[in-house]
Amino acid sequence: MNAPIPFLDLRQPTGALRGAIDGAIARVLDRGQFLLGPEIAGLESEFAAWCGARHCAGVASGFSALQLIVRACGIGPGDEVIVPGNTHIATWLAVAATGARPVPVDPEPATRVIGAAGVEAAITPKTRAVFAVHLYGMPCDMPALGDLCRSRGIRLLVDAAQSAGAAIGGSRALCHGDAAAYSFYPTKNLGALGDGGAVVTDDPEIDAAVRLLRNYGMRHFADHPMRGVNARMEELHAAVLREKLRWLDDWNDRREAIARRYLGRLSAMPGTVAPAWPAGVRHAWHLFVIEVDDREAVRARLDAAGIGTAVHYPVPPHRTAAFAGTGPFPPLPVTDRLASRVLSLPLHPFLDTAEADRVMDALADAVRGEAR
Ligand SMILES: *Cc1c(COP(=O)(O)O)cnc(C)c1O
Repeated sequence: MNAPIPFLDLRQPTGALRGAIDGAIARVLDRGQFLLGPEIAGLESEFAAWCGARHCAGVASGFSALQLIVRACGIGPGDEVIVPGNTHIATWLAVAATGARPVPVDPEPATRVIGAAGVEAAITPKTRAVFAVHLYGMPCDMPALGDLCRSRGIRLLVDAAQSAGAAIGGSRALCHGDAAAYSFYPTKNLGALGDGGAVVTDDPEIDAAVRLLRNYGMRHFADHPMRGVNARMEELHAAVLREKLRWLDDWNDRREAIARRYLGRLSAMPGTVAPAWPAGVRHAWHLFVIEVDDREAVRARLDAAGIGTAVHYPVPPHRTAAFAGTGPFPPLPVTDRLASRVLSLPLHPFLDTAEADRVMDALADAVRGEAR
């Protein structure tokens, strides 16, 4: 019997870098400064450079990054922000937390991310921004969305929580719109040892506003220009993230190699729909998400074969109790269909080729209805 293949094992990245991580933690302990210090400043300049952006502000979480971007743009009660129907509920919650209303649009069925045609149809006189989500690591069509938003005078914001490393035509900068929110949640392509996030932007005003908002809206104890929150990043996390950032390109290359291997097998596997990978797109391959009929049965057979899977996401935000009564929502048939069919397979930098092949062997059996 082969060893089980978990969906993800977070001991692997920290284990691989254990010496460097221990050193980073020691650096912070020895300095005795734990919030908004030199490790954060270092991470901000290194991550901005890696992203091809002018500014980066470290914050407490991906959720904080999303919410502070909306507030930094002056968007709030009475405003509408277009969001994908299919996304992590955090995108919707962050918009709602500012008092603005999330207005969902269905994704395009092949790429599973929102496109300019769907967005254009949802724009109203109250629309102030579009939150593009590069879901699973697949970047939205940013040139088309950028043209649309510019012509309508609205902001193009990005939830980049799943897309560290994504690029279009070789440009990471093109994936950021007016401002992008990154999450350093431990499972993300660049993950902390806890919560963390960042706002990446070329706009000095958004950057300055986020820097104020993350720390109670104060410049110093006697100067409070806006009502901020506590969304500060921690030095310990920044120090560890700097060590991991050195490896992120290698890790993303490894994700891509596994994805390529999976796609080769899936092209000859009836009963599965593989993720789209358009030409010219660098996919961050945060998640490798297929579609299958009868998902729960396929999952159970994979589980019996020792293969861990996950579902991102089984209940779309418009079907949750959290957003009940906040509609009416437009029909979202693609979102609903995906929610019942998507299945995430193991894909991370520490999965070896033999394991990847075992995942595909077990999947082929599972979709044929055979147990292993
Ligand atoms: C993880 C994630 C978030 C939330 O990030 P946190 O750091 O957990 O707050 C938001 N949006 C998407 C698409 C995510 O995957």
